[in-house]
Amino acid sequence: MKLSVVYHPDYVVSLPAEHRFPMPKFKLLRDLLLAEDIITPEQIYLPELPPRELIELVHTPEYVKAYCEGTLDTKLQRRIGLPWSRELAQRTCIAVAGTILTAQLALKYGCACNTAGGTHHAFPSYGSGFCIFNDLAIAAKTLQKQELVSKILIVDLDVHQGDGTAWIFQHDDSVFTFSMHCEANFPGKKQTSDLDIPLPVGLDDDGYLQILAQHLPDLLTEVKPDLVFFDAGVDTHVSDRLGKLCLTDRGIYRRERLVLSTCLAAGYPVASVIGGGYGKDIQGLVYRHSLLHRAAREICAQY
Ligand SMILES: [Zn+2]
Repeated sequence: MKLSVVYHPDYVVSLPAEHRFPMPKFKLLRDLLLAEDIITPEQIYLPELPPRELIELVHTPEYVKAYCEGTLDTKLQRRIGLPWSRELAQRTCIAVAGTILTAQLALKYGCACNTAGGTHHAFPSYGSGFCIFNDLAIAAKTLQKQELVSKILIVDLDVHQGDGTAWIFQHDDSVFTFSMHCEANFPGKKQTSDLDIPLPVGLDDDGYLQILAQHLPDLLTEVKPDLVFFDAGVDTHVSDRLGKLCLTDRGIYRRERLVLSTCLAAGYPVASVIGGGYGKDIQGLVYRHSLLHRAAREICAQY
């Protein structure tokens, strides 16, 4: 099985120098994957701008138009936490396309990873917490619309609850939302996923992996998805600026292996996105994100 990786140069746009969102990480991740021969250039796929109708499968036309044209009101703009620019609007759309392409590649080849994605705090008519459009929800609905899949499982292991995704699919039985997140972290008001596992502050590798291993196999048997989306946020790491858990690099690597091998061994294709990860040590952060692709390469080689 060949690992497919999705990247676009527009994943990176400039932000004010002191902004806490680590924007350069997307390109640095792609560079690291190539420099360490985790992938070759032929394994990289380039997404194209998506038609607006696909974004509107999830988001209201008013919100999509206002965001894309830069006319969103100040309060909604502030809630996103990223200063608007034409480049950022373009980046937002191309990152959504990246997750759609990742999902299509996963269906074709079994396993594919984006080098961005996981904007799970975005709701239909507003964005929040650095999330503008909900790429996971849009990709899920797009693949359903294209009749490529019917049942989808979203495994959201970012340290923050996937509140937007949970809300979007709360009355939709075709998409099962599973979120494992730190109970005492953003968002303050949690939504109800199909399965929520709130975790205590300070949980370590073994505690975390034990809980995940308890739930994932049963979930796959119960849901029998045509496709799994995996949000591999690394803000679960002990040195993350916004997380409150205590996973190590080794623990995150074991987590990615556990998710990918459990799904692929049972025959379920997996589309992964990198999710959140925040820190001043950008090299350390990029390395943590690359653990997903390293694990994916190893698991793919077994099939
Ligand atoms: Zn997060």
